[in-house]
Parts: sequence; structure tokens; C-alpha cells
Amino acid sequence: MPWAVVIPQQWRSPLLNRNLGAGTLSPSGINLLFGDQRKQRILSLLRQRGPMTRAEISRATGIAKSSISVLVDQLAVEHSVQIIRATSNNRSKSVKGRPGELVEIDPSSGAAIGIEFGVNRMIGVIGDLSHEILSEFEVSLLPNYSVEVALKTAEDIVNHLLSVTRITPSRIIGIGLGIAAVLYQPEEVTADESESQNVLNRNFAENLSRITGFSTTLENSANLAAYAELLWGNGFGLRDFLYFKSDNLIGGAVVMSHEVITGSRGGVGEFGHLILDPNGPVCRCGQRGCLDTYSSIQAMTSSASVTFGHDIDLPHFRSLIEKGDSVALRILHDGAEKLGEAAAVLSRVLNPEQIIFSGELIALHPDVLQLITKKFESHTLPLNSHVKLVAGSLGDQATALGGVALILGQGR
Ligand SMILES: [Zn+2]
Repeated sequence: MPWAVVIPQQWRSPLLNRNLGAGTLSPSGINLLFGDQRKQRILSLLRQRGPMTRAEISRATGIAKSSISVLVDQLAVEHSVQIIRATSNNRSKSVKGRPGELVEIDPSSGAAIGIEFGVNRMIGVIGDLSHEILSEFEVSLLPNYSVEVALKTAEDIVNHLLSVTRITPSRIIGIGLGIAAVLYQPEEVTADESESQNVLNRNFAENLSRITGFSTTLENSANLAAYAELLWGNGFGLRDFLYFKSDNLIGGAVVMSHEVITGSRGGVGEFGHLILDPNGPVCRCGQRGCLDTYSSIQAMTSSASVTFGHDIDLPHFRSLIEKGDSVALRILHDGAEKLGEAAAVLSRVLNPEQIIFSGELIALHPDVLQLITKKFESHTLPLNSHVKLVAGSLGDQATALGGVALILGQGR
């Protein structure tokens, strides 16, 4: 019963916290807040969760039902929210209380843009405050694209999304930007960990903000993807789960107690550098046998290139797998098994409810998740026998959607 779960608390990303003006609520301290602060709390909740009944808002915020009704009426008069009828599209089940009515953010009051910077593509998504995804746009790029190309492409994506949705710039709350890098607090990006090194610095976000006129927030792409899964995907309603993003390199995120956790310096989720064999291949981090050296797309295509004696990129590797090439299938099989081993090791420490796998690796063959699961089961502790291994439900757009979610969660 997804709508009855405890509302996820605000994601405590260092970046997000820095941009949040309002204080957080203690579980029983709601009555300490009055007027606008309570309205802001309701609006923030609806931005994150989409349409809710008055009773659900009351339960999630701790504000008395009678007060919720008054506040919701005021917000409706101010055109910040609207009251809609519950339908099979916006409710997964009937609810108690006043099932016919839902409160949602007035979609005309704003929208947010999420963009993921990938190795060879950029994906943009625009969503309004009622959580409806209005449009999406993907641009292919040559790897190692320059700062100038990145900025121009991001600007083009923003303009395209505004143009096709006919949304005026004044309605945009901000842009959430996902990059494959560790974001340290306060303002450093570790370029050597990045997939698209040339563009990764905070000046980039500032420059994009200057060009577009929209406030731009930078976050780790796996964190954003996990956040989207937590709010809208296969992580919905879960308290603790792990998220693997297996693309050119392997990233990850950890959700504990309904929050994406970032660690003391933003480094949680560097699953690619989990050491599986101290005598294994040398990793770019200087150690040996990291997960990245077995299961990343980069490692698998490199391995295929060595075996075949010429360069094999991802499309070529994919076509070899589709043709049933025994070498490519062996490399994929081994890579998937190492991922299952890594998932089992992490579960021993973190004891999640579920592990979500996403990225190019999962999409390479229908059997990949099964291979991962089989290895996981053979390496896991009995106390983790309940852990479900599933594919992500948001596909290529997960990070961009997380960018939208990040901005919606920040509020105006
Ligand atoms: Zn490493």
C-alpha cells in the first residue's frame, strides 16, 4: 500500500541542505510552525509526493486535519494548489476518508528541469509541480566533449524543452544537473573520478545558470537516480535499498531510513572501487581488483578489444552479444557475476531490503539480472536472504528525473 508509508524525509544532500531556507521539522514539533511555514511544508510535501488526500497530508506532516483543511483552502485561493477528483490514474487504490478528492500542486504554478551528463549523451526532462513529466529530450555527443559543447548542448536542451511545452521561463523553478563524479563538500569535484572530466566543475553549473537564467544545482548522477527511484520508482515505500548504476563506470547510491545518504564528504556509493580481488587487474584508483575493472562497460569493451585485437565500442559489443558471440557473452557473464558478488559484500555490511540495478550493463542482455542474482545468492549471508534484486523502473531517464525531483523538493 504505497500511499500509506511514512513520507521520506528531505534528502539530506549537502547541496540540497545548503539551498533549503526552511528548517526541518521534528516529528512532534509541527505545532511550533505557523502560517506560511506550515503552508510551505504542505507545498514541499505535495511537490515531492504528488496528489494526496487531506488525511494523508495530515498524517505525513503531523498537522491536525482541521488545520490542514483551512490551510489547503487558503492555498487553493492563492492558486498554489488545486483540488482534483481521484481517478484510477492518480490513485493506485481507494482510500479512506474523502476518497473523491485529492490535493495537488497547481501545475500552472511552476516546472523544473533535470539533465544528466553522460559519457556520450545528455538527457533532459521537464516536469511540472504536479509531477507530470511534460517532455524529454536526448542529445548524442562524442565522448570527452568540451566545456563549450556541454554548455551549448545543455542550453539547447533547456530551450527545446521550453519550446515544445510552451512553458514560459518565469515558471521554471530551477535545473537539477546530474554528473558522474563525487561531489565533495564544500565545493570540490574530483575530476579523476568523473566520466566526463572536462565539464565537471562548479563553474559549469554557475555558467549554465548565467546563460539560462535558472538556478542550477549539481548532484551525483547515481544519487539523483536513486532519489527518483525512491520517490517514483522501484524504491518507492522502501526504507533501505542500494542502487547500482552500471554504465561506462560503476556508480552507486545508498538509501537508508528513506534518505539518500552522502557520507562525511559526499563519497558514499563508490561501488566501482569496491575491491573484490587484491591481486586483480589494476584500477585507475591505483588499487587492484576493483569492481570497475570487471563489470564496467569500459572494462568489458576493453577486454573484448584485447581479445579481438581491435577497438570495440559499446554498440559493437552490444551487437556481438545479440549475435551470440561466445567471447562477448563470456565477458558479460563474468562481469555480471562480479556485480552479484559486490552486491553480496555490500549487503553483508548494509543489510538492505532491496538492490536496484540500472544502466547499460543491465540493458545488454535479458539474463544479466538473473546472473547477478545467482551469484548474489551464493555469496550472501542467511540474514540477507530476503533481499530482492530488481532492475530500475525509470530507465535512462532516472537521473534526469532525479534532477527534477531534487528541484521540486527544494521548493521555490
Ligand atoms: Zn578502483
